[in-house]
Amino acid sequence: MFIDTHAHLNLEPFIENVVPFLERAKKNKVCKIIVPSIDVISSEKSIELSEEYNEIYSAVGIHPNYSEKAEKKYLEKIEHYSKNENVIAIGEIGLDYYRDYSGKESQKRIFQEQLEFAKSLELPIIIHNRDADSDVLEIMEKVDYFNGQMHCFSSDLKFAENIIEKGMLVSFTGVVTFSKKAREVVSNLPLDKLMIETDSPFMAPIPFRGKTCEPSFVIEIAKKYSEIFGVKLEVVEKVTTKNAEELFKI
Ligand SMILES: [Zn+2]
Ligand SMILES: [Zn+2]
Repeated sequence: MFIDTHAHLNLEPFIENVVPFLERAKKNKVCKIIVPSIDVISSEKSIELSEEYNEIYSAVGIHPNYSEKAEKKYLEKIEHYSKNENVIAIGEIGLDYYRDYSGKESQKRIFQEQLEFAKSLELPIIIHNRDADSDVLEIMEKVDYFNGQMHCFSSDLKFAENIIEKGMLVSFTGVVTFSKKAREVVSNLPLDKLMIETDSPFMAPIPFRGKTCEPSFVIEIAKKYSEIFGVKLEVVEKVTTKNAEELFKI
């Protein structure tokens, strides 16, 4: 069994009817899917999906791109949602300096507030980090909480080693199938600190470039790990599934 640790089934185009995507995932032995959120509405939707489908687990939180738009009492809502038994993590949270949808100050404030909240409940975190390594690290150090996943990893090897040393796990998307830089980082990391994810509907792996990415494709990321590490696919399956199950307690 494989776990897609990051798929936005609470967004278009999945939101209309998620069933065919879940069926195709199951055919590829993808039997658990974590659905992260980007704002209050998608958090609600993620919980709804997790209540309806056994294979779906929910993460709630405000994505950095949406931090400026977050309502004043957003944290009260996230706190309320996190009481739901299907909510297994806070995310995705973090900093995104690649896109300027939200100012840096509001991104940092909302990231830190959610990080502190996750720490207070000892819930794992799902970190989104684009071009913001040093500020992400600074805030995580300030809060002193490193229990979670660096999702859609796009930083360099040094940062990966540093963040793993502090206790985080790292996951890659379909990017490993088409980026030499990502493959080089992966090849230097221990498999027992890695997970797999699609970030559906984005980041479709080879051979599905240009298509809507969906959870069944997560197998392509596992295949790429198996090629990079020179181990059987079953080994990647076993290790990455165990990592996700232990981190998220699913
Ligand atoms: Zn992200
Ligand atoms: Zn995402």
